[in-house]
Amino acid sequence: MLTIRNLEKTYPNGVKALDRVSLDVPRGMFGLLGPNGAGKSSLMRTLATLQEADAGSAALETPDGVVDVLNDRDAVRRRLGYLPQDFGVYPKVSAIDLLDHFAVLKGLDDRGQRREVVEGLLAQVNLWDVRKRKLGTFSGGMRQRFGIAQALLGNPRLVIVDEPTAGLDPEERNRFLNLLAEIGESVVVILSTHIVEDVTDLCQTMAIMNKGQVLLGGRPAEAIAGLADRVWRKQVSKATLPNYEANHAVLSTRLVAGHPVIHVFSAERPEDGFERIAPDLEDVYFQQLRAQRQPAQAA
Ligand code: ADP
Repeated sequence: MLTIRNLEKTYPNGVKALDRVSLDVPRGMFGLLGPNGAGKSSLMRTLATLQEADAGSAALETPDGVVDVLNDRDAVRRRLGYLPQDFGVYPKVSAIDLLDHFAVLKGLDDRGQRREVVEGLLAQVNLWDVRKRKLGTFSGGMRQRFGIAQALLGNPRLVIVDEPTAGLDPEERNRFLNLLAEIGESVVVILSTHIVEDVTDLCQTMAIMNKGQVLLGGRPAEAIAGLADRVWRKQVSKATLPNYEANHAVLSTRLVAGHPVIHVFSAERPEDGFERIAPDLEDVYFQQLRAQRQPAQAA
């Protein structure tokens, strides 16, 4: 369990990236969802000890005691696996050589033991067959899987992955997410993403963040149940769309075969032609962002 309380961060340019962020992150996959600029990376980098918070606390429970994440950096780093947004690799080095190098940096001094760990991880992330290939020849998905292998060195208790699926094609994304799900059972894994499906498909718990604030936390199914019976759908014309946006709580607009289909948040049927639908996490997400924008209108 990772317990975050009242984290605050204001950058020198005045941007408040973390505004009293409090979260309880249990073991397993935790999805941190929010649009670009929400503060996700600021939170991830703070937890990964790459930058300092102005105030607040974070405590990580491990089998050998509680680690003060903000003040005991060495202890965190020994238990941390981090996959940053842009995982730069050395293009001319082979996967096995680079992973071995990272393992040395992690303190795996025993040669035989290190070899076992490195080979085991390459097999786990499905890169065994290409382990001798140069990393410069890897696809985006292969590089991200290599990133997971390096993040898992040294048996971390806290694994942080920041926007990992951004550049991946659907097949690579699936492989990558399945791999994450496998490691997520015994460790705290925080997956930061702006892709709602990544969270729906994978995470037992989640939080929605925007403008430095946590808007909602908990289980996806519970958040979805909270919108039950209050999401409505209608196909409208492009000409009338602005009208709907002005007069209804439009959560989302999607073009289906060239026609806008809107989702509206409302306790009652907004007007004729609206069909009540079962909400999904995307409706929850947009409803939360909307409520933050227009608190007075939130039902
Ligand atoms: P996200 O990861 O959700 O996209 P970030 O944490 O990267 O969000 O950014 C949150 C806000 O802080 C944004 O407005 C961003 O422009 C700003 N920001 C991020 N890093 C810095 C920095 N080093 N200096 C100044 N502003 C920053």
